[in-house]
Amino acid sequence: MTDKLPCAVVRDLLPGELEGMNSPETSALLTSHLESCPDCRAIRDAMAAPTPAMPEPREVQGLKKVRKAVHRRVRTVILAAVLALVLLVSIPFCAFFVIGFKEPGWYSTVDVSGELLTVSGMTSSSALAVRKIEFAELPGGVAQVNLRTVLPLFWREGRRGESHWFSRTITQVQSSDGTILWYEGTKISVLASNLYRHSIPYVGNASGVSRLVRNLGLQGVSLELKTESEPYGLVLCGAQDLDEKQLQKAAFALLACVDNLSFVQIEDTGLEFNAQEATEFLGRDVKSFASSPSDMQRLVEALSLAAGPAGSLVP
Ligand SMILES: [Zn+2]
Repeated sequence: MTDKLPCAVVRDLLPGELEGMNSPETSALLTSHLESCPDCRAIRDAMAAPTPAMPEPREVQGLKKVRKAVHRRVRTVILAAVLALVLLVSIPFCAFFVIGFKEPGWYSTVDVSGELLTVSGMTSSSALAVRKIEFAELPGGVAQVNLRTVLPLFWREGRRGESHWFSRTITQVQSSDGTILWYEGTKISVLASNLYRHSIPYVGNASGVSRLVRNLGLQGVSLELKTESEPYGLVLCGAQDLDEKQLQKAAFALLACVDNLSFVQIEDTGLEFNAQEATEFLGRDVKSFASSPSDMQRLVEALSLAAGPAGSLVP
């Protein structure tokens, strides 16, 4: 069979050929022509090739870019918001449940053995738990303790015992508010610590005397200072209804804690207690009890002094 088809006819028939519409005879003629005609073959190949995807208009591409950027921005904002929320929740969470609060604390046990300190402390607030006891080494062998309290979540106990080794021999143990807990072998009560720390040289210091009086549990008592001439004295006013024994104890303690105080009178009773009587009663110079926390502790024990009602301990 000879190829008689002109190129123009072949090209008209090509679409039908590609869709399989032509008769076998026509197909055979076309095939034969294509074998010998590179031009028509090229056109057939071009028509048979898959239609290339239409490139998207520039505006659509721009829109897509904008949308992508917006998505990214939104994701960033959401992530930042979540992070901020986590921080917002975790900062107070950490503050209340992990870091907690520093509290001087109350200590039922204070044992010192050379450089080793063992304490058992409790928090004054029933709403808090003790996470740990913190130790600090101050100059002169002074060991300081305080409680780290938190809202009860991970920790629940309101008391805790802990030991700590210091680098040198311990001479004094105090809590972080300055209350002396132990001094050279003697456990010191809060009252003895307060009386020692608030001991003053002059009765003329009215606010200092008043603080001692309140620490001794004498509520509603006012003071009159006798400081015009020696011997210096003090009159307790409004104390006439108190028990005489209690008044004597308080007067002896005041005579110990105020160095230049020589006598204490109780208004409207004729009662007077002086330093000499106190010295005789206690068996040693009444003024010597203010020389150290352990001496003050001995005074508190000798007089069976009890702290006043809760709240009367004035730091
Ligand atoms: Zn041709």
